[in-house]
Amino acid sequence: MSDIIVLRDVERGYGEPPALACAGVNLTIREGEFVAIVGPSGSGKSTLLNLIGTLDRPTAGTALIEGVDVRGLSDRALSALRAHRIGFVFQQFHLAEGVTALDNVADGLLYAGVPRPERRERARAVLDRVGLAHRHDHRSHQLSGGERQRVAIARAMIGEPPLLLADEPTGNLDSMAGARIIELLHEINARGTTVVVITHDAELAERLPRRIAIRDGRVLSDSASRSIA
Ligand code: ADP
Ligand code: MG
Repeated sequence: MSDIIVLRDVERGYGEPPALACAGVNLTIREGEFVAIVGPSGSGKSTLLNLIGTLDRPTAGTALIEGVDVRGLSDRALSALRAHRIGFVFQQFHLAEGVTALDNVADGLLYAGVPRPERRERARAVLDRVGLAHRHDHRSHQLSGGERQRVAIARAMIGEPPLLLADEPTGNLDSMAGARIIELLHEINARGTTVVVITHDAELAERLPRRIAIRDGRVLSDSASRSIA
C-alpha cells in the first residue's frame, strides 16, 4: 500500500510573531489505515486535520496528499483535489436546515458535475448503506444527533473519496450513538477508505488500530512508531 498522506516538518503559525498551532509534525499515513488523533483541547488537532485535508496550507514544511505537494497547487486545483479525494465530517454536522436527508447527501456531488437525478439516486444508495433507509425524506431537525451525523457521513462518502477526515464526529452525541458512529467509520474503512478521526474519547480511541497523541502542536506519541517516546 502506498502513502496517502506525508507531512514533513510541517508548521502552521498564527499571528505575528507566529504562535505555532502545528509545530513541526512528521507523519505518514498509508492507504487503508484507520487513525485516531487524540489530545487535549487547544493542542492542535483540528489544525493538523485541516492541513491533512488541504483546508489549510503549511506555513513551513511539506504536505503531500497522494504524492502531490500541496504547495505547488493553485487554490482552484486544491479545491478540486479536495472535492474529489477527501470527505469531511465535523462535530456540528453542518447539514442544510430544512433540507431532506436525501438532498443533503445529494449535494455532496454538486461540484462533481453529476446530473441531479443521478445525484439523488446515488444519495439513496448511500443513505441505505449508513442505516438511514427509513429517513430519506426527513429534514435535519426531524433527525436525532446520531442520525444527523450519519447523513453528514453519507454526504462525505457519496463521491467515494479515498480519504475520510472526521473532526470530533462523536463530540455532540451520547456514548451509545457515538460508538455506533465509530462502528460506521470502521465499516467504511473496511471497504477500503482511509479514515482519520479526531476524538476526545479515550475509550473510543483505545479501540482504533493506530493512535497519534498531539500536545502543543507536536506528535507526543504514535502507536505505529516505537521510536517516538
Ligand atoms: P484542538 O483542535 O486540539 O482543540 P486547534 O487546532 O483548534 O486545537 O488549535 C490549536 C491552537 O491554535 C490553539 O492555541 C488555537 O487557539 C490556535 N488557533 C487555531 N485556529 C486559529 C486561528 N484561526 N487564529 C489564531 N489562532 C488559532
Ligand atoms: Mg478541534
